[in-house]
Amino acid sequence: MLVYNTLTNKKEELKTIHPNEVRMYSCGPTVYSYAHIGNLRTYVFMDLLRRALSVDGYKLLGVMNITDVGHLTSDADEGEDKMEKAAKAQQKSPLEIAAYYTSIFKQDVAALNISLPEIVPNATDHIPEMIEFVKTLEDMGFAYETDDGIYFDIVAYGKYGVLSKLDLDEQLAGARVEVNDQKRHPADFALWKKAPKEHLQQWESPWGMGYPGWHIECSAMGRKYLGDTFDIHTGGVDHIPVHHENEIAQSTALLGHPAVNYWMHGEFMMVDNGKMSKSLGNTYTVADLKAKGIMPLTFRYFCLNAHYRNKINFTWDAIKASQKAYIRLLEAVSANKNAESDETCKELCEKAYADFMQAVNDDLNVPKALGILWNLLRSGKTSKEIFDTAVKMDAILGLDLANGVVPLEEENDIPQELLEKLALRTQARKEKNWALSDSLRDEINAAGYDIKDSAEGSTLVKR
Ligand code: AMP
Ligand code: ZN
Repeated sequence: MLVYNTLTNKKEELKTIHPNEVRMYSCGPTVYSYAHIGNLRTYVFMDLLRRALSVDGYKLLGVMNITDVGHLTSDADEGEDKMEKAAKAQQKSPLEIAAYYTSIFKQDVAALNISLPEIVPNATDHIPEMIEFVKTLEDMGFAYETDDGIYFDIVAYGKYGVLSKLDLDEQLAGARVEVNDQKRHPADFALWKKAPKEHLQQWESPWGMGYPGWHIECSAMGRKYLGDTFDIHTGGVDHIPVHHENEIAQSTALLGHPAVNYWMHGEFMMVDNGKMSKSLGNTYTVADLKAKGIMPLTFRYFCLNAHYRNKINFTWDAIKASQKAYIRLLEAVSANKNAESDETCKELCEKAYADFMQAVNDDLNVPKALGILWNLLRSGKTSKEIFDTAVKMDAILGLDLANGVVPLEEENDIPQELLEKLALRTQARKEKNWALSDSLRDEINAAGYDIKDSAEGSTLVKR
């Protein structure tokens, strides 16, 4: 498979460290709010990559973090912790906030047929690993203490900027007015923050009570589950200049070699040709789509029509057009469902599948692959072979092509209060508070819903 590596700015043949196995880390959500369609586009990209690797015969070991502490309102370590801010605004504990938004996140990705990586760790469950990472960097002379935390020293490290190809002078020239005058370089970033007394989430550390910086979470959890070197790291392009540059710096400093061989980045989703932002009210969610009659898988189909390295522009007109096209696709596949076998289609189908996989293996050229499926469906033939080929292709596409058109079900819209109860139950189970978790389950059952627990998390199903 060819993959585009942001480190080298070119497509490269994927060569894995372990034979027939891909170890991959994907930056996950900060669970202080609902995931918006831009975030979800990045996870659709991750899912396509995982499906392609799996169809190619690789065993997958994937990790996606759940950030439930330490991501400040600015990615460059300024402002308030997002979890802390949401907890105060909603008068809940950060853990309650995290449990609630994590459970909604899992439902949203499931609705988009995104299967989560094998390991989905919470940052707050890995504080000792993070402290050890930071302490080692400090002992090695790559980190220093200020009044408010422990910072990574990019000048001592000396190789900062390999991903965004910025040198230190450019970083300096481009830096904003510095608010922390104890930092040795404006791009030095917090590995650990000291916590004021009133801070809700804090842990003991060699530097007093505090909490981890956001960047260290990914490096520490990636190392724990995937080892000192692993194959692929994914995320959105916004993470190239700060978050991933910082991950590379701290891991390379600690290990003496890079941790990741291939860095892959998904382009942004724009809305009405502009940035998505809360202040513009255009950070749409899966629930917003459903409220306007858009099926979650329509959104997946919409994403699949653009290459992951190109921007997509979301407009309501565009997504409605996508829904029409997606329904036509489902109908075209269904037309072959109960068709007779047609030997003369065999060659056509084999060629279509081979071309399809060639496009997929060319740095995930899924728009081209979709075009190949459409051409097959428009070949003028109808046969069981065509249906079987479309379903085989769906192992990559994830569009439920075998199911035909399933209308958006009203009952999918689970009442908010039940989702909150489900999140509280998840939290209660985590704390082994079985009495509370049982009584929450009873309340949910009494409202007519069953809880489905799986490795991916818990979901509600109407009875
Ligand atoms: P966050 O929860 O902010 O850490 O973001 C989660 C993921 O969504 C990251 O991989 C981001 O790079 C990605 N992301 C954020 N905004 C967008 C967007 N507008 N389009 C595509 N991906 C995005
Ligand atoms: Zn990350």
